Amino acid sequence: MSEHLALLATHLEAGKVRCELCAHRCVIRPGQKGLCRVRENQAGELYSLNFGRLIASHVDPIEKKPLYHFLPGSLSYSIASPGCNFRCQWCQNADISQISPGNEPGHLRFTPPEHVVAAAVDSGCESISFTYTEPSLSLEYNLEVSRLAQEAGLRSVYVTNGYMTAEMLKLTAPTLAAANVDIKAFDEAVHRRYTGARLQPVLETCAALKQAGVWLEVTTLLVPGVNDDERQVRGLAEFVASKLGTDVPWHISRYFPQPQFREIAATPPETIFRAIKIGREVGLKYVYGGNLRASVDTDCPSCGERVIRRLGYGEAGVDLKDGVCPKCGFPIKGVWK
Ligand code: SF4
Repeated sequence: MSEHLALLATHLEAGKVRCELCAHRCVIRPGQKGLCRVRENQAGELYSLNFGRLIASHVDPIEKKPLYHFLPGSLSYSIASPGCNFRCQWCQNADISQISPGNEPGHLRFTPPEHVVAAAVDSGCESISFTYTEPSLSLEYNLEVSRLAQEAGLRSVYVTNGYMTAEMLKLTAPTLAAANVDIKAFDEAVHRRYTGARLQPVLETCAALKQAGVWLEVTTLLVPGVNDDERQVRGLAEFVASKLGTDVPWHISRYFPQPQFREIAATPPETIFRAIKIGREVGLKYVYGGNLRASVDTDCPSCGERVIRRLGYGEAGVDLKDGVCPKCGFPIKGVWK
């Protein structure tokens, strides 16, 4: 019945186990699962139920993560195992992230880590992205894939909600070349109400990733009436600028109604343009629109020269010489080929 023994478990009295992977720190009784439903206490031991149980694998342009300052124009082998520790009502991947009778990990075929890396190499990818669902919940599998990927010359990427503990980050950060953290709201009460999780650990993860030298980009999906007010948008922009750095790219995306959440209409483009303006006002050098056909190129913050043109996913015209603007020599931060 067991799957893969989980890391980051603290054994408590009466066979209970506390999972220390994410900031929920679930205390789990024997026979029960944690809030994410992919970690289970089996007779006093914590097991990962989604180890190698992939529910999605695709070859994606790295821009789709989104990562705009990390190997632009390259492909990333993108995989996901089921499971999430958030409950965002508007999740566009709810069918694979939230566990339901149709997508329990045990129903999925096991994919050995070496198969993932071989597929990535065969498809010409330069990185492996752990994405679509919440990747941190597949810690044990991801560590094995990342180790093999590194041996094959590939880099590893997380696209995450950032709800990790310091212990989790200590294991994971050294294996990552880049991460995109989705900060879903900039108000504790709003964040809790719509995700079921606290905001503060997410902010701490962003700072820790930056500190660890992982290339970091931040995404925010602006949902009308939820997180698009001036206070939250400006507060988030100021957090990125002051705590993470003005070189950290910020992606501000339009929300579109999902089948399970149609109460709110799509984000007007003007809302995104207003947020981009706020980001620039607080000093962020790279602010991008997501799910928009505008504001996707990279301009030199010093002289305005267009240094990266993005024509569509996977088509990036890069005009950088050793990471500097070819016109004025200003350093454009990122991970370039
Ligand atoms: S990963 Fe988070 S939600 Fe899942 S069992 Fe561990 S602490 Fe709970």
